[in-house]
Amino acid sequence: MVLSENLSQVEERIHAACARAGRSRSSVTLIAVTKVFPAQAIVDAYALGLRDFGENYVQEFDAKAPGLPELPGARFHLIGHLQSNKSRRATDLFQVIQTVDTPRLAQRLHEQARWPMEVFLEVKLSGEEAKHGAAPESLPVLMAAVRGCSRLQLSGLMTMPPWSEDPEDSRPYFRRLRELADAHHLPALSMGMSNDFEAAIEEGATHVRIGTALFGKRVKR
Ligand SMILES: *Cc1c(COP(=O)(O)O)cnc(C)c1O
Repeated sequence: MVLSENLSQVEERIHAACARAGRSRSSVTLIAVTKVFPAQAIVDAYALGLRDFGENYVQEFDAKAPGLPELPGARFHLIGHLQSNKSRRATDLFQVIQTVDTPRLAQRLHEQARWPMEVFLEVKLSGEEAKHGAAPESLPVLMAAVRGCSRLQLSGLMTMPPWSEDPEDSRPYFRRLRELADAHHLPALSMGMSNDFEAAIEEGATHVRIGTALFGKRVKR
């Protein structure tokens, strides 16, 4: 099966990057990004031992979730921008919200969540217009807001550098995110995708979000 071969290759690359950085494999969580792929992709990846899954759109995952059997221990991460009118549904569908970027969104999630939600703050480190995420300067206020929400557990920071062929272009963004997390004493760093996750691990990623390298190219919807 292609997925199991792809997973072996990704695992080899994660191990090698951990070795280069003097880190243990267990310090990195592999999140399988299943956006655009059907529910079966999640079931197949689960059968191969994966437990963390990333989806970008509440609506897409809402349509997919009924097709999933019970998957004990599976954790679903929302890694795409969360519109406030979708926040209630998001708290039903996901265990982890990686894209909290305003105090208002944090407050909504807190009010709507029926169980404790793990939260990452999405940080925007580039000047790209289209990107969501909080400015680094706004982190203290955002962190205080999240910490004031008893149903939210703050894990760390998440970012997505500008797209580039060359993973070395992403490295300065990864380094900057780690410096911010260190400065704010946050343990988790969600950074690195199929093309640049090794650099991310070398710079301290605790969560890598990998789609293409596992499931192949996404066909545009
Ligand atoms: C799609 C996506 C990924 C996975 O990207 P690949 O290049 O397919 O590995 C990771 N993080 C976010 C936020 C994404 O939107």
